[in-house]
Amino acid sequence: MRSLDDFAGEKLRALERAKLRRSPAVTARDGLWAERDGRRLLSFSCNDYLNLSQHPEVIAAAIKATARFGVGAGASRLVTGNHPLFAELESRLARLKGTEAACVFGSGYLANTGIIPALVGPDDLILVDELSHACIHAGAKLSGATVQRYRHGDAEHAEALLTGHRGGKKRALIATDGVFSMDGDLAPLGALSQLAQRFDAWLLSDDAHGLGVVGGGRGSTFASGPVDVPLQMGTLSKAVGAYGGYLCASRAVIELMQTRARTFIYSTGLPPPVVAAAIAALDVIAREPAYAALPLRKAKEFARALNLPEAQSAIVPVIVGETDAALAASDLLRDEGFLVVAIRPPTVPPGTARLRFAFTAQHPDAEIARLADLVRSRVLRH
Ligand SMILES: *Cc1c(COP(=O)(O)O)cnc(C)c1O
Repeated sequence: MRSLDDFAGEKLRALERAKLRRSPAVTARDGLWAERDGRRLLSFSCNDYLNLSQHPEVIAAAIKATARFGVGAGASRLVTGNHPLFAELESRLARLKGTEAACVFGSGYLANTGIIPALVGPDDLILVDELSHACIHAGAKLSGATVQRYRHGDAEHAEALLTGHRGGKKRALIATDGVFSMDGDLAPLGALSQLAQRFDAWLLSDDAHGLGVVGGGRGSTFASGPVDVPLQMGTLSKAVGAYGGYLCASRAVIELMQTRARTFIYSTGLPPPVVAAAIAALDVIAREPAYAALPLRKAKEFARALNLPEAQSAIVPVIVGETDAALAASDLLRDEGFLVVAIRPPTVPPGTARLRFAFTAQHPDAEIARLADLVRSRVLRH
């Protein structure tokens, strides 16, 4: 169809002009190292915080499960896609998060776009931190509820919005990242939890970047003493090194998800090797708390070397401003052997293009020091 290709081509040219066109770069990854354009680079752009995607026990568990159950699940879990490993993974997750039950989804994105519309609808209200992950915004939109965005990390603004909008709505949900994916800071979960109780709202925290890294590996809900978060959602694709999303909650909520969340019902179950890998990775996290503490320690050292605010997670952003400047800084670091991807709008707000550094347990301290020197002397010159 000519009109179809004309449409796609024109869209792409407009993105190109705005320097916002993106495409998947070929990256052959070998643990911490990535190969781009024939060069071997030390990567600071991977969410495999504990390097568990490469862990021998995790790999062995995936191979064993493949041999036993095959590669794919074959159907939705409500049909024939369920297999015994799911129950084991879900009970592990529930135990780790201190909830009655858990259920896993195809991915974190599928989790939020399934969970939120299963809980709220057109008569209801959702408060969303403005910097929450795209899949929270997508879930909120899909639900048809009235969406109010509160200023990033600002529980007082959330309170004002609840005061103004809670009356007249049946149910209310507050949804936030626990650890913000592009800023690395923690949500004020204590304050949000109190608000939720006062206004009879349900608090959902997305702990994609918290599980395995903060709160002794249990996630952001445990980072400063346990907080009451009835909907603890997250992903198995970051520190856990595998793939899939999850929700930990009460038994009633989990049973509702299994029968009403459309992304659970109408999407094929996770592949058995992926479920087995996640179980093995959770074993390592539980067994080796000192190892799980390393990414945060390394992020703190890097932030300290640059006089940035203390790192609260494994993610440290260095805001550069304009897209061009962020791309140039990324190129400069590449020439020095580092892969640090520039994050630009629309992933982050206009004018806040940045380098996003993600630290993992196995990043060598000497390389982190060299990287900090480069950023200080060549990126943050002023
Ligand atoms: C990565 C991420 C997701 C999506 O998880 P996937 O399993 O990769 O789909 C959801 N929320 C946040 C905050 C994330 O960073």
